[in-house]
Amino acid sequence: MSVASKVIRPEIQGMHAYAVSDATGLVKLDVMESPYRLPSELASEIGDVVSRVAMNRYPVPTAHELRALIREVMQVPKGCDVLLGNGSDECIQYITAAIAREGAVVMAPAPSFAMFAMHAFFYRLRFVGMPLREDFSLDTEVFLAAVAKEQPALIWLAYPNNPTGNAFPVADIERIIRAAPGLVVIDEAYQPFAGATFMPRLAEFENMVVMRTVSKIGMAGLRLGYVCGRPEWIGAFNKTRSPFNINVLTEAVVIKLLQNKKVLDAQAARVLEERERVRPELARMSGLTVYPSAANFLLVRVAGGKGAGTRVFDSMKSQGVLVKDFSGGPPLMENCLRLTIGTPEENRILVAALREALK
Ligand SMILES: *Cc1c(COP(=O)(O)O)cnc(C)c1O
Repeated sequence: MSVASKVIRPEIQGMHAYAVSDATGLVKLDVMESPYRLPSELASEIGDVVSRVAMNRYPVPTAHELRALIREVMQVPKGCDVLLGNGSDECIQYITAAIAREGAVVMAPAPSFAMFAMHAFFYRLRFVGMPLREDFSLDTEVFLAAVAKEQPALIWLAYPNNPTGNAFPVADIERIIRAAPGLVVIDEAYQPFAGATFMPRLAEFENMVVMRTVSKIGMAGLRLGYVCGRPEWIGAFNKTRSPFNINVLTEAVVIKLLQNKKVLDAQAARVLEERERVRPELARMSGLTVYPSAANFLLVRVAGGKGAGTRVFDSMKSQGVLVKDFSGGPPLMENCLRLTIGTPEENRILVAALREALK
């Protein structure tokens, strides 16, 4: 027996590392990135900004300039504080760490974002995934009954949900927040495509915080997520944070981009337009169910028995288009593919490849 196999937790030895597909040479529509690069003028301004960064220095641990800008640009309510993470993935880790009392329960709908369960697992917390209905709608009564029974310290609600794309009804989310004995995190990773937000309502609910990311609006490579909420929550999460988690390049570049947010907003608007244009095209294809989406992707289900979805995925890949295949993954997702919306040209290629694959 090697030292590593004696020392590493057996459940870690038994798991697989998070897998990301190699997209070399493919139209990349698998992980909800923005398809747009920056206009060249703004890109070279960013080059100037980067050239002035003092890379020999540690970041300012409070990142106060970036946090102040986020408050302003994202309309964070007065009296609320902001926590930054190296992607919202890291915010999920910090929040989980802060509530990880012995025996604490973490709850979320299932399927939802994989990291909610993952960090609960790392911190040895019990994760309760409450199955959505077959059409991915939320069974609120069943969810509320589970809240009453399990008394979760932490509930994650992605609004809109990933990988399903739908936004649960606001009234149902309100009922869950009111019934929850602990914290409810509204994960608004797709807010720019959803229109609706819980951000202005932070003062209304003592036990709610709002988490967002800049990943889906053109800055996935920079790794920045943030959590907004009352100081009593944010102050606690901040204690679990690595002091220099936001690197100087990310801070400088995100500041420059948020000062030019109009550019990003225009890109998001184009993606949204494309989603609405592509959706009816897919809906007309036989052998395909298209689910409602308030995000920058469309979830579809391929008709047929086991393996039908993966066959379509493989065919699309061989035609040069990478999407995400959920078969064999989370519950209810057999034969489901998640299609990120790209540029009009990429979407044309996507639709043609899907049509061919379904033949
Ligand atoms: C993409 C995504 C995130 C994480 O994004 P980061 O790139 O880590 O900021 C968080 N929540 C949901 C629901 C997502 O889909």
